[in-house]
Amino acid sequence: MILEGQIRKMITEYKKPVQYYLNLKNDFLDVNAQLGKKIRIYHDHNECLGCGLDKEIFRMGFCKNCFFTLPQANENIIRPELSTAHLGLEKRDLEWEKKFELQPHITYLALSSEVKVGVTRVSQIPTRWIDQGATSAIVLAETENRYQAGVIEVALKEHLADKTNYQRMLKNEVPDVDLIAQKDLFKIYIPEEESIFYSTDNTLYQFNYPVLKYPEKIKSLNLNKQKEYEGILTGIKGQYWIFEDNTVWNLRGHEGFYVILTI
Ligand SMILES: [Zn+2]
Repeated sequence: MILEGQIRKMITEYKKPVQYYLNLKNDFLDVNAQLGKKIRIYHDHNECLGCGLDKEIFRMGFCKNCFFTLPQANENIIRPELSTAHLGLEKRDLEWEKKFELQPHITYLALSSEVKVGVTRVSQIPTRWIDQGATSAIVLAETENRYQAGVIEVALKEHLADKTNYQRMLKNEVPDVDLIAQKDLFKIYIPEEESIFYSTDNTLYQFNYPVLKYPEKIKSLNLNKQKEYEGILTGIKGQYWIFEDNTVWNLRGHEGFYVILTI
């Protein structure tokens, strides 16, 4: 079978194990069903997620021009504490930023390579954690907007990681940690003003991924350096495809690449 299209992050379903779909413009691929199969990936050209043009992808699937102009790539996306829509202040497009920032958010603890703190919209539960390849996650605080969740994250970052070590996540080198106990331990670092947002909901989200074999070493596939790759798919975790020869492909890092897949 041959499929082609622009790479966007995989669609996921919270199942045991997580179910993954690749949504190409004209094709829809059940990725779990491809485990054990040989897949050839060919980078044909680019299609920027913003303007759709065949331009060099700079970051987040956008060409340089879109990355520096579109509200979808404004700095509040990466650094929620810089959000200003709640003050009525515009970064790039106030209407867009209001819709995005002025909705319920959470600050969470997740275990992907170690315990980390992060922020996401309530609507992104549990998608955000699956995208990170987390093994488990718990809500620490639920806030009214993005700014408040960002302030809590910044305070917690002094004591916890805020990034995933993707190599350890992919090798499944994850310590056995009780996140409910961690939440109890770290709640004292929530700033006084935001303490009203502390969540008493101790639901523990746990994730299993469709992986036949974890890689021992990691070789990252970069389609900018290598136009073509072929290997046997042995796992899917986070937004990565894992191949038998220890190659891993980060689909999120290749958003905007237009590929032809032969399976
Ligand atoms: Zn563009």
